[in-house]
Amino acid sequence: MRVLVTGGAGYIGSHTLIELRAQGHEVFVVDSFDNSSPEVLARVSELTQATVPFAEVDIRDRAALGDVMAAFRPDAVIHFAGLKAVGESSVIPLRYYDVNISGTLSLLDAMDKVGCKRIVFSSSATVYGLPQYLPFDEDHPCAPTNVYGQTKHMAEQVLRDWAAATPEASAVLLRYFNPVGAHVSARLGEDPSDIPNNLMPFVAQVAVGRREKLSVFGDDYDTPDGTGVRDYIHVSDLARAHTAALRFANGSIGAEAINVGTGQGYSVLEMVEAFARASGRDIPFEIVARRPGDIARSLAAPDKANKLLNWHAEKTLDDMCASTWAWQSQNPNGFREEG
Ligand code: NAD
Ligand code: UDP
Repeated sequence: MRVLVTGGAGYIGSHTLIELRAQGHEVFVVDSFDNSSPEVLARVSELTQATVPFAEVDIRDRAALGDVMAAFRPDAVIHFAGLKAVGESSVIPLRYYDVNISGTLSLLDAMDKVGCKRIVFSSSATVYGLPQYLPFDEDHPCAPTNVYGQTKHMAEQVLRDWAAATPEASAVLLRYFNPVGAHVSARLGEDPSDIPNNLMPFVAQVAVGRREKLSVFGDDYDTPDGTGVRDYIHVSDLARAHTAALRFANGSIGAEAINVGTGQGYSVLEMVEAFARASGRDIPFEIVARRPGDIARSLAAPDKANKLLNWHAEKTLDDMCASTWAWQSQNPNGFREEG
């Protein structure tokens, strides 16, 4: 298929490009490089031995996006482009609504103009909010507790309404749990531009000596060791879920929300221990207060993905830690030049 990938230079997008090409799809990337750089696409080109075509376009720029769409004429779109920092989303909410909602509207409009009726969307487990029961299945009520989660939930609703109103259209709403890990080549990985918000990149930066110690946000949760439990999913498994979702979208009509997680939870301390094992480095940490808005446990019921997408997570916790360590230690400055 001809697949237009918005946000393809980002963390999850870049790993998905590799998988798309491995499956024989033709790709075109649209990215503003707001949170990434062309160097990422140069590395994907190197790994897949063919230049990745791209346009530096903001998805909210309807004219430019329309031109790209008219020239490439995709069979399907994978829509990664967006803003994703939970804390920042409550500080600059309008920007989050603009990029994540107006951006999605602009994209659907451009798709309509060329008759493209298949989309796979990056949603998030944050749409569920506080768990009424665990693991989260896709029927769990959605009540996001932060602006970022609201934008994902609203974008899902936009996509559902679009799919219902557009004959033969299909939208797959992938609700990611906690993506971690890096490409097996150690040439691609997560490269936060600022102090990492997420656990894994922070731990990796402590291990490599870029940060002194990890702050563990609370050890008084109702979990076996008191620290927060999450469903970590290897980014390469997540990338495969996108090619599976494309296959599904191609043979279905309507909108479908699907969890992408493993169903297995690990605590913060278990992650620290596993990372120390994989890297051979000490990970100094201190217990600090809970982070506002955090929940004790988040876990996916991955049954729907197993059944509808014929997809299962394959990588282990050790794969997640070892690949993150290889990426971090071989690219201490991420995609930036040394120094
Ligand atoms: P990322 O920031 O690495 O990638 C997003 C990409 O979109 C970047 O390359 C960025 O430059 C681009 N972009 C941002 N705004 C844009 C705009 N207006 N126009 C064009 N391009 C733009 O993030 P990621 O971790 O790869 O996440 C990809 C998607 O998955 C996001 O929508 C995110 O909300 C969602 N998601 C991520 C996680 C996670 O933990 N990483 C979890 C759940 C959902
Ligand atoms: N966490 C932590 N210290 C950090 C970052 C995260 O203790 O510096 C904890 C956090 O409280 C949660 C888990 O690690 O229990 C995963 O957090 P992350 O931000 O990676 O994902 P999310 O909270 O969005 O699921």
